[in-house]
Amino acid sequence: MEIKRRASKVIKIGDCLVGGKNPIVIQSMTKTKTSDIENTIKQINQLEQAGCQIVRLAVKDQFDAAALKKIKTKTKLPLVADIHFSFRLALAAIESGVDKIRLNPGNIDKPQEIKAVISALKSAKIPLRIGLNSGSVKDIGPRKSQMTDRLVNACMQYVRMIEKLKFNDIVISLKANNVLDTVEAYRKVSRVCSYPLHLGVTATGSSYSGIIKSSVALGSLLLEGIGDTIRVSLTDNPVEEVRAAKAILESLGLRSAGVQVISCPTCGRCELDLISIVKDLETKMAANKYKQSVNPLKVAVMGCVVNGPGEAKEADLGVAFGKGSGILFSHGKIVKKILVKNCVKTLIQQINLRRGHGSSDVKR
Ligand code: SF4
Repeated sequence: MEIKRRASKVIKIGDCLVGGKNPIVIQSMTKTKTSDIENTIKQINQLEQAGCQIVRLAVKDQFDAAALKKIKTKTKLPLVADIHFSFRLALAAIESGVDKIRLNPGNIDKPQEIKAVISALKSAKIPLRIGLNSGSVKDIGPRKSQMTDRLVNACMQYVRMIEKLKFNDIVISLKANNVLDTVEAYRKVSRVCSYPLHLGVTATGSSYSGIIKSSVALGSLLLEGIGDTIRVSLTDNPVEEVRAAKAILESLGLRSAGVQVISCPTCGRCELDLISIVKDLETKMAANKYKQSVNPLKVAVMGCVVNGPGEAKEADLGVAFGKGSGILFSHGKIVKKILVKNCVKTLIQQINLRRGHGSSDVKR
């Protein structure tokens, strides 16, 4: 199955292109105080290492806005200033050299203030994200109208006001706090404009529930071709947001997975501790940044011979275990027998051979 992407306008954020046929961009947000320059830069570097491509920072006061200037000199990642309530903070952040501004129509809506920000964005030649959240949207349209209609109406009213100022360097987000409203709001807005869409679910909760909600909502939209950049919001370290975003895109084939491990869930037929083996393999691969490998490689780790050889046939490399040992396959051909105690080491060696050469030829 092929995903047909919605045709959207291309917007440049720093060196990063969002929209059109460009790969879907992963973003996250720092959780430090932006005025704490040292720790903010440290977190930005961690996010970049994890694969984040755009980072947003909260700008709560003039100290945060001023700090952006220094932070900007210490990273190549495009910086987005997250602004609420005060248009003056948007002006100060633009002055500090950020690459994009996010405004919330729920709390910055005075025409003169919007006009001042748009004028500064035009001078700086940087884009705007119109970022609505279900928690701060005002009731525009019929009273008691559906949340998703309120989000879309409020968004499009803001968009039209900005278009009248002859500005259309715009990205849109409409985040609800549940999957169904999020999916419906993005579907609706995708039909009425061609601006690139930043996907996300807001206030998702802890890692576990947040990743599930985000995967279902973002996955549904991405399957329909909707979405140009994503942020997985989690009450957790932002590096986890980036890891989850990457996994969502990889699962849909929208991003190269590098070395991807598929493994069976195990059952009563399994004669070894497969869970520990897979965890050990993933940890060793993470330490070696195999996920960022340019040569995609699928590695199947299966608990027995029921599905093992079949899955292993589909994979570049696979192992199907029996009692105490397993059979190593490459594209369905038996390579050799391996002992359970050596299996992670052997798999890493075999992955290295293929990664280094970009080839799936078996070397013994
Ligand atoms: S591959 Fe074997 S051990 Fe794994 S779930 Fe299937 S039947 Fe069970």
